[in-house]
Amino acid sequence: MRRKLVAGNWKMNGLKASLPQVEAIAAAAAAHPGVDVALGLPATLIAPAVAVAGAMPVGGQDCHANDSGAHTGNIAAPMLVEAGAKLVIVGHSERRADQGETDADVKGKAEAGHRHGLDVILCVGETLDERDAGQAEAVVTAQIAGSLPDGADGAWLSIAYEPVWAIGTGRTPTEADVAAMHGAIRAKLTDLLGTDAASKLRILYGGSVNGANAASLLACADVDGALVGGASLTADKFVPIIEAAA
Ligand code: PGA
Repeated sequence: MRRKLVAGNWKMNGLKASLPQVEAIAAAAAAHPGVDVALGLPATLIAPAVAVAGAMPVGGQDCHANDSGAHTGNIAAPMLVEAGAKLVIVGHSERRADQGETDADVKGKAEAGHRHGLDVILCVGETLDERDAGQAEAVVTAQIAGSLPDGADGAWLSIAYEPVWAIGTGRTPTEADVAAMHGAIRAKLTDLLGTDAASKLRILYGGSVNGANAASLLACADVDGALVGGASLTADKFVPIIEAAA
C-alpha cells in the first residue's frame, strides 16, 4: 500500500514572515500521521523552516546535476542537504519552460538528489495544445522515459503529473482524465521498471488542487497524493487538503 503524499510547492514565495505558516502546517502534519506531508521551499527558507517544522520534511525546488562547480546561481544537492532538506522537486514545468530544462537535465537532477539521500518529486505534464492535439499521454510518457532517474526503485521517488494548463489557473482535468493519465503513467513505469519497482512509486496529481476538489482528485485511481502550489502557501488553505488525504 502506498501512503498518500501531500506536498506543497511554494515556488518563488516565502520570506521568514511565513515561518508561522510552516509551523502551522507542520502541526497539522503531526496530527495526521497516516499521510505524508512535505514542503518544497525557496532555498533561503529551508534552514529556518527546518527549525520550526518538527518531523515534517522540507526541501528545495531544484538542484543541479553536479555537486559543485562553475554554475552561477545554481544550487547543488549537497547544499540542500546541508540546509536540512529531505526532498527536492525537479523538472517542474515552470523550470522546463523558464530555464529550458530538458528531460536529460531533469534525469541528472533527480539522480543528484537521490545520490545525496533526498526524496525526489519529478514533475511531468502536457500543455493545452498538446492535450487538444490528442498527444497528452504520448508527451507525458515520453517525459517519463527521458527523465526517470536510474535506480528508480523505491518510495523515495514520486512522479507528479501536472498538466501545464491546470497550474495556477483554477482549471482541473476531469476525474476520468486524471485516472486515465495516472493509469498510463503507472503502465509506463511498469514497462520501464517492472511491476515491483513501479508499484512502489507514488504518482501525485498537481494543478489547481484546493480544499474543495482535493478529496475527489485524491480518490481517482492511481492518485497517490497531490503537489500543491498556491493553496500550500497558508495553513488555512493547505490543511484541508491534508485532511482530505488522511
Ligand atoms: P497550483 O500549482 O496548485 O498553484 O496550480 C501547482 C504546481 O505548480 O505545483
